[in-house]
Amino acid sequence: MSIEAGVVIDNEGQALFWHEPQNRTGGSLPDSSTLWDVLWNNRDNISGFAHSHPGYGMPSPSYTDITTFAAVEAALGKRLLWPIISGDAIAVFEWCGPGKHDYQLIYSSRGVRVFTPSDPPTRTGSPDIATPLAPGPTTDHGGVPC
Ligand SMILES: [Zn+2]
Repeated sequence: MSIEAGVVIDNEGQALFWHEPQNRTGGSLPDSSTLWDVLWNNRDNISGFAHSHPGYGMPSPSYTDITTFAAVEAALGKRLLWPIISGDAIAVFEWCGPGKHDYQLIYSSRGVRVFTPSDPPTRTGSPDIATPLAPGPTTDHGGVPC
C-alpha cells in the first residue's frame, strides 16, 4: 500500500519542501507546524501544494482537501494551485469562486508516459522525413503559433 506524501511547489515549479510526516498513512496526510512554517515563511515564493492519493485513476479532492485549500489560502492571503497525484494520473485544482469552497479542475493528465528522442509521440507523415516534436518558426509558411 502506498503512503501519502505532499510537496510545496515554489514559483518556479520546483519542489521546495517535501511533506512526509511520521503519522501519515495510505489514506491521510496530516498537516504539521513544520509544514505551516514552510508555507508561511515562503508565502511570497510558493505557487502550490501537491499531494498524493492512493490507488489509480483520476484523483479528485476530498471534502477535507477542499476545506484545507480554503483555510490555507485564507491564512496566506493568496491563491494556490492544488495538484493531486494518483498512481497514473494528475489533476490540478484552483479556486474559481464565488463560494469559498468552489474549486475547479484546471488540468488533468492520465497515463503519463515519458518520451525519449528515439520514441517520439507521433509517427505520422512521410517515412523519409523526420517529424518534428514541435513546429519551429513558420514565417514562410503562414503558420499560426499556438
Ligand atoms: Zn487529498
